[in-house]
Amino acid sequence: MGALISNYIVIVSVSGVLNALLALFAFYKKTDFAGIRAFVGSSFFSAIYIFGFALELSGNSMQEIGFWIKVEYLGMPFIAPCSLLMIMHFVGLERLINKKLLIPLFAVPIISTLLVWTNEYHHLFYKAMVFREGAPSLVVDIVMGPWYIVQGSMTFGSMLAGMCLILWQWNRMKRVYRRQMITIFVGQFLPAMGAFLYLIDKTPYGMDPVPVIMSVTSTLYFWAILSRGMLTAAPIARENLFESMRDGVLVTDRFDMLIDYNRAATRMMEGLDSSAVGRSLAQLFLPAGKDAVDYVMSADPLLSGERELAWNIGGSTCYYEVRSSPVLKKDGSIAGRMIMLIDVTERTLLQEKLRQLATIDSLTGIYNRTHFMELSRELLIQAQDSKSPFSVILLDIDFFKNINDRYGHQYGDMALQHVVGVCSRHIRERDVFGRYGGEEFVMCLPDTPLKQAALLSEQIRSDVERSPMYTVSGQINVTASFGVVEALPHNVSLEELLSEADHALYTSKRNGRNAVHISSGAAITHFRP
Ligand code: GH3
Ligand code: MG
Ligand code: MG
Repeated sequence: MGALISNYIVIVSVSGVLNALLALFAFYKKTDFAGIRAFVGSSFFSAIYIFGFALELSGNSMQEIGFWIKVEYLGMPFIAPCSLLMIMHFVGLERLINKKLLIPLFAVPIISTLLVWTNEYHHLFYKAMVFREGAPSLVVDIVMGPWYIVQGSMTFGSMLAGMCLILWQWNRMKRVYRRQMITIFVGQFLPAMGAFLYLIDKTPYGMDPVPVIMSVTSTLYFWAILSRGMLTAAPIARENLFESMRDGVLVTDRFDMLIDYNRAATRMMEGLDSSAVGRSLAQLFLPAGKDAVDYVMSADPLLSGERELAWNIGGSTCYYEVRSSPVLKKDGSIAGRMIMLIDVTERTLLQEKLRQLATIDSLTGIYNRTHFMELSRELLIQAQDSKSPFSVILLDIDFFKNINDRYGHQYGDMALQHVVGVCSRHIRERDVFGRYGGEEFVMCLPDTPLKQAALLSEQIRSDVERSPMYTVSGQINVTASFGVVEALPHNVSLEELLSEADHALYTSKRNGRNAVHISSGAAITHFRP
């Protein structure tokens, strides 16, 4: 046996060892990747095949060589089907792995192995085996039998299918997984190439180069697993999960620079595309306003927190609940952050609507009685605590029933809105204005003594009087009567105040309407500025 062939045997043996180690390594590797079993299988069967091949090369007789070929066939037919299954897991097609696929995929290799071991009785696999003339060592050439072609088709078919799946999924794969894709592709392509060249007799001395090639591919796999985290997860499966989420997800590194995002996030944040990768979170949240930026930048990466932010997208406001949670490395140190955006626009708008319905009078748009009472009670307590003046004005439209009767209810409604419009011109920001009932309105005025409240009432009264309502049915004159009261003594309740104001208002009505009466202690007097 020449030195050449000895070297070759050594290389092949090393390849066998590498594949055996790869199988063991993958077997004991902790991983979420469901295709790991198929990977272990393909490495294990490769190891059997390669060791068998090394021993075939060193065989001295047809009988020895024949035996080691049989050993090779304990592994070789199973490699390509296992690889195909691994790739199917890798590209997220595990749902297609079922009995219908598995039975033919493994029945053919099992039959091949059985036929090889019993070939001398039927010659279905090899028609004949002959020693090759002029080869550097004993090399046996085989004459293909019918089942050899079936097995060959299965091997090449599986390899081709695996490569096609990778190419097909290439664009769907995120950039980070593409290196792994290339690795697996090369791991498939190189042996397939070698096998093909061997088949068409284009290899040196007609030697089978696949075992040697497998030393290269298994080294490549080792490198990819160790340095690139290959086979830790099925990228497409993880990807599908990530991409199918309704909530937006942003992943950042330790320096709050964007490293990943899902499709939902692109719909929720304007301008989020691959060019945003590497940009800072602050920049990304800028369109949502300073508040949003402050929040994301101040959120402690170690603490999980959530917050609702208003976001302007294409002119309409969206509301997102933003949750920030830390992404930790295995050792507990911070790798970055995951920011989740949950669209709560519908919920927020509904809440806002409910809040409005509960607090606002739908006809006039001012506070309803309940909410007015709530707000005023608080303001009264504050005023009493700080011993500051506090007044209440009650007003009632005069002969309102006449407007309803004469023009119809719709005009009555318009008159209510009209009076509210006039009053609103005089209301200050800190005052509270509400509809007390029917055509009766109420104002509470913090920091306002009686005299000032009476003056304000007088201004409103004369403004209402001088502001007729113009309608298609003609001009409608409206007036209102007023009752004004100040919160003296300091422990008076809101209800007592309102009752006192009502007395003053009643006096305005009794004395001819369109007037302001003030109630101070026991006396109710007509106010004239
Ligand atoms: P006064 O000068 O003594 O206040 O007489 P008035 O006619 O204004 O008072 P009255 O209490 O007799 O009538 C108030 C009317 O207001 C009775 C009610 O049908 C009507 N009203 C109450 N709420 C509404 C409303 O929301 N829209 C309309 N159009 N009318 C209303
Ligand atoms: Mg009235
Ligand atoms: Mg009334």
